[in-house]
Amino acid sequence: AEEAAREGVFWRVAEADQSQLERQVTLMGELDDALTSGAIEVHYQPKLLLSENRIVSVEALVRWRHPERGFIGPDAFIPLAEQTDRIGPLTVHVLETAMHDQVRWRLLGHDVTIAVNVSARLVASADFEQDVRAILRKDVGDPSRIIFEVTESATLTDPEAAVAALHRYRALGIGISMDDYGTGQSTLSYLRQLPLAELKIDRSFVQFSHRNRNDGLMVRSTIDLAHSLGLKVVAEGIEEEACLAFLRELGCDYAQGYHISRPLRAEALVQLLSARSNLDQVA
Ligand code: C2E
Ligand code: MG
Ligand code: MG
Ligand code: MG
Repeated sequence: AEEAAREGVFWRVAEADQSQLERQVTLMGELDDALTSGAIEVHYQPKLLLSENRIVSVEALVRWRHPERGFIGPDAFIPLAEQTDRIGPLTVHVLETAMHDQVRWRLLGHDVTIAVNVSARLVASADFEQDVRAILRKDVGDPSRIIFEVTESATLTDPEAAVAALHRYRALGIGISMDDYGTGQSTLSYLRQLPLAELKIDRSFVQFSHRNRNDGLMVRSTIDLAHSLGLKVVAEGIEEEACLAFLRELGCDYAQGYHISRPLRAEALVQLLSARSNLDQVA
C-alpha cells in the first residue's frame, strides 16, 4: 500500500511536470505572437540623480500583456525565453522600443538615458551584436544615452568573450552597468577588466541598509570602492524615505526603487518628467 501511495505521488508529480512543460511550450508559442502583436510592453523605472534631484535616466523593464492571463512579469518568461533562443529577438524589441521612445521624449524636451537589461547568454552572442549594430545604423536615438545592464553571471559564463564583447559595445558608445552587484562571485581583478561606467548595488543590500549595520557598512564600502574606480553608483530597491536619506549621506549617485517611482508606461513617465521639470522652473 505504501508503495502504491508512493507511486501515486510520483505519478502526480510527473503529471504536474508534464502539464507545466505543456504550459511552457504554449507560452513560448504565444510569446512569438506577442512579439509581433505589440503585447510585449516596455515600462520604465526612473533612476533619480541625487546631486540634482532630477530624473535623467530610466531602466527599461519588459512586461507581457497576455490576453487571457493578464499581466506577466519578466521573471515568468525571461528564463524560458533564454532557454529557447527567444531572448535575442525579445531584447532587440526592447532596445528598439527604448530608442524610439528616447527620440519621442527628446522632442518633448526630455533627454533621458535608457538602460536595457542584457541576459547572460546574449552578452557574447554574435547574432545579437549584429542586431545591435543594425539598430544603431538606423540612426534612431543616441548610443551614448544607452546603457546595457549586465549581471556578474552574464560575464562569467565565458569571461574572455564577455570582456571582449563589452569593450566592443563600449566602443560603439554604449555604457555598461553591472547589475545586482554583490550577489555574484566575480573578483575585483576581473571586474577591473570590464569597461564599466556604473555599478548597481543589489536590492538585498540596499533595502535595509539604513537600519541594518552590516548592510549599511557593505553599501558604504561598495560606494567608496566604486568611486575610487571612477564608477557611478546606483542603489536599487529603495522603498523608504529613510533609506533614500541614508544613501544621499553616503554619496550614492543614483537611487532607484518604489519609493521614488514604480516602473511606468511611457506615457506616465513623460507626465512625471514634465511635472518635475515644471517644478524646477517654479523653484
Ligand atoms: P533587475 O534588472 O534587477 O530589475 C529590478 C527589478 O526590481 C524589477 O523587477 C523592478 O520592478 C523591481 N524593483 C524596482 N524597485 C523595487 C523596489 O523598491 N522594491 C522591490 N521589491 N522591487 C523593486 P521586474 O521588472 O519584475 O524585473 C525582474 C528582472 O527581470 C530584472 O531584474 C531583470 O533581471 C529582468 N528583466 C526585466 N526586463 C528585462 C529585459 O528586457 N531583458 C532581460 N534580459 N531581462 C529583463
Ligand atoms: Mg536591471
Ligand atoms: Mg538590478
Ligand atoms: Mg536586482
